[in-house]
Amino acid sequence: MNSKDIRTQFLNFFKEKNHKIVPSAPMVIKDDPTLMFTNAGMNQFKEFFLGNSVVKNKRVSDTQKCLRVSGKHNDLEEVGKDTYHHTMFEMLGNWSFGDYFKTEAIAWAWELLTDILKIDKDSLYVSVFEGSDDADKLGMDTEAYDLWSAIVPKDRIIMGNKKDNFWEMGDQGPCGPCSEIHVDIRSAEEKAKISGASLVNKDHPLVVEIWNLVFMQYNRKADGSLEPLPEKHVDTGMGFERLCMVLQGVQSNYDTDVFTPIIREIEAITGKDYGKKEETDIAIRVIADHIRAVAFSIADGQLPSNTGAGYVIRRILRRAIRYGFTFLNTKEPFMYRLVNVLTENMGTAFPELKEQRQLIENVVKEEEHSFLHTLEQGLVLLDNVVKQSNGKEISGRKAFELYDTYGFPIDLTGLILEEKGYTLDEKGFHEAMQEQKNRSRSASEVAKADWEILMNDSEQEFVGYDVLETKVKLVKYRKVTSKKEGEQYQVVFNLTPFYPEGGGQVGDKGYLEAPNGDVFYIVDTKKENNEIVHFAKHLPKNTSETFKAVVDKKQRQRTAANHTATHLLHQALREILGTHVEQKGSAVHSKYLRFDFSHFAKLTVEELRAVENFVNARIDGQLPLQENRNVPMEDAMKEGAMALFGEKYGDAVRTIRFGQSIELCGGTHVKNTADIWHFKIKSEGAVAAGVRRIEAITLDAVKDFYYQNNRSLFEIKDLLNNAQDPVKAVEALQAENIRLKKEVEVLLKDKAKNLKGELLSELEEVNGINFMAKKLDLDAAGIKDLSFEMGNSHNNLFLLFGTEQNGKALLSCYISKELVSEKNLNAGTIVRELGKFILGGGGGQPFFATAGGKNPAGIDEALAKAKEYLN
Ligand code: ATP
Ligand code: MG
Repeated sequence: MNSKDIRTQFLNFFKEKNHKIVPSAPMVIKDDPTLMFTNAGMNQFKEFFLGNSVVKNKRVSDTQKCLRVSGKHNDLEEVGKDTYHHTMFEMLGNWSFGDYFKTEAIAWAWELLTDILKIDKDSLYVSVFEGSDDADKLGMDTEAYDLWSAIVPKDRIIMGNKKDNFWEMGDQGPCGPCSEIHVDIRSAEEKAKISGASLVNKDHPLVVEIWNLVFMQYNRKADGSLEPLPEKHVDTGMGFERLCMVLQGVQSNYDTDVFTPIIREIEAITGKDYGKKEETDIAIRVIADHIRAVAFSIADGQLPSNTGAGYVIRRILRRAIRYGFTFLNTKEPFMYRLVNVLTENMGTAFPELKEQRQLIENVVKEEEHSFLHTLEQGLVLLDNVVKQSNGKEISGRKAFELYDTYGFPIDLTGLILEEKGYTLDEKGFHEAMQEQKNRSRSASEVAKADWEILMNDSEQEFVGYDVLETKVKLVKYRKVTSKKEGEQYQVVFNLTPFYPEGGGQVGDKGYLEAPNGDVFYIVDTKKENNEIVHFAKHLPKNTSETFKAVVDKKQRQRTAANHTATHLLHQALREILGTHVEQKGSAVHSKYLRFDFSHFAKLTVEELRAVENFVNARIDGQLPLQENRNVPMEDAMKEGAMALFGEKYGDAVRTIRFGQSIELCGGTHVKNTADIWHFKIKSEGAVAAGVRRIEAITLDAVKDFYYQNNRSLFEIKDLLNNAQDPVKAVEALQAENIRLKKEVEVLLKDKAKNLKGELLSELEEVNGINFMAKKLDLDAAGIKDLSFEMGNSHNNLFLLFGTEQNGKALLSCYISKELVSEKNLNAGTIVRELGKFILGGGGGQPFFATAGGKNPAGIDEALAKAKEYLN
């Protein structure tokens, strides 16, 4: 069975069991402060487990793109070294939200694996939670045990501890026992020697977990205690690549058709064979795995960058590049050449790959280029570190500096040092690393108290599209404490006019007003697990009153104008540059808007002009907002609405139309484009290969901009004595400046000539050498000219000049050629030695050299030392 059929079979099985098949959520998470990447199928359903949203489908199934490279689930260091952990993988899953529980979940998993997919029953083991005698005092999961005993022999049921068989979403929230299904794919001979049961959960590459069935029945509170959940849920996850391995009768995920085409391509590009040498094999697996993670992230809109999720992606890509560099001898970009096979292989199940192939290739190639360059630079830097070191051990802090500042990988540092016969102080490196981690961790740590529930409310309503002010009741609140924000309260209302940060748009600010007139400021609004959470510094004393919730109108209007302008800008770019333009990110603030989009070249002045004109024409056209809050996704797409890659959409969507531009959007907009007043682009530039960024302004920001410009112009005119045409006046000034410079040059030459005469008469004879050490008021070029001029008319010269220019010191040494050879004098060595007096360094040739430094006070001392060289 090929992998495509396996995926389909899984989904069909659950479809027949009345599950709704839903699309994979994006792998890159944009609106959950606790998670950067989807690391399990259940992430996109958190709101249902938490009871924040009303469940529409109680049974759901899908295949979910997951990435386990950071946070609680981090498999990165395993990947490539073993054959069954990936960074990016697909997790097949089925869910019950308050519907079926253990009985069905267990029976169906078994039916699918053994009846439908025909996995040999004798190769399967299952595990059951054994209970815990810690503070939780949980009993064994006898329910699951009894259910399994009815289908599998007792000796195939393994009792598991809390680590393996109790699943928690985080420090707080829903959790419960789980049952895992493991498969033993060793040969009959091996199986006869050692029982499979003894190898379960022992990191054996051929006895691996394939499916985890989680039974959520508790809620973990902030104080660590457990309470039963009112409704019980099922959450299962099966590793797709591992399932393929079992069904295709191979012993490594990398030998399945999910990976073999990529591996063949790596072999073709590098000329290395897979399966010959352990070191090469690991590198090939790393690359085959990482290109998937990187390609899928870029397709989801996450470009490699220097911070956050983008930095994680950059590091994954760099890990692969470095494995290639070290073990496959790839010194040129090559990973981008794998994108094509990957797309051919997975583009049907994940069309976002196909549609963005070109962009993915461009971005990967550019990253490869720049990192290979870094590697080369790093090699030079490392060489210097080695040269400057006293002993045979290189300090861990130095290595950390290379790693942290230049991105030079530590294991490569280790390897190179070893080749050169040096060792690395690894302990020091890890200490420096840990210190940095601690710093960033404590900065981002957030402590959350339990929610205080004030009233029951099934689903919160957002009324902010229509009103900016309304009467509300508080539903719940909790205190959160973080280094960054200090103490704050998160408050949920029964309904709210506050727009929560999302879709690139900032969250609303405003206030709550109590009946007695007291005011409590809302400093930000965010969405968490589909719930709108307001951030306040203080809480009202009486939380059960009815409050007036008021959104800051000015900020909202400006933000709305920028959001609508973003849509018009998007349309303008597609119209003027072409339909290859796709949104790659946006930030809609009250003061400005930022729009990232795929395009291969810098925009010309004419193009920018055309874009501005296009948008402003639509503002002048006074186009009314046409909004549809509840359209089936299919209809919206038929209408031509633009959906964004990497965004999560429901079955029903909201469409925003201004004239020809229709987009799926949850943001807030102006009622009419006339409310934008005017649109002005402030900057255009590159973000990554093939991705450009435009920053623009609207409304009062445009007025301010023109006002400032106008003011500068007036000031300039004023400085130009009220010139009628300031451009002409500036051009005249520039021309005059050039003419004056030339005049000065001539005068300086004359001055040097006179000076030369004077100086020659001051030469002193020391040991038969014509010597002079003197401070001059000339620049570097002047001193050089002068020295050579003097050299032309006198033999046996030794000149040391010092000068101070713009607060910096300069020493310059000239030695006649015959002295260099006969007396073994070297200007380069001399300035380097004397450079220490001016706190600097330099060099040059034996007959002429200069040194620069930051201490002019040391010039005299240096000059005084000069004579010593002649003895
Ligand atoms: P393991 O112990 O093998 O790391 P896990 O306990 O971390 O697995 P779960 O979190 O229960 O796994 O995830 C559910 C399923 O997803 C696993 O049974 C496995 O088949 C698959 N899976 C987990 N991590 C990975 C990974 N890094 N690469 C591929 N598949 C994975
Ligand atoms: Mg794991």
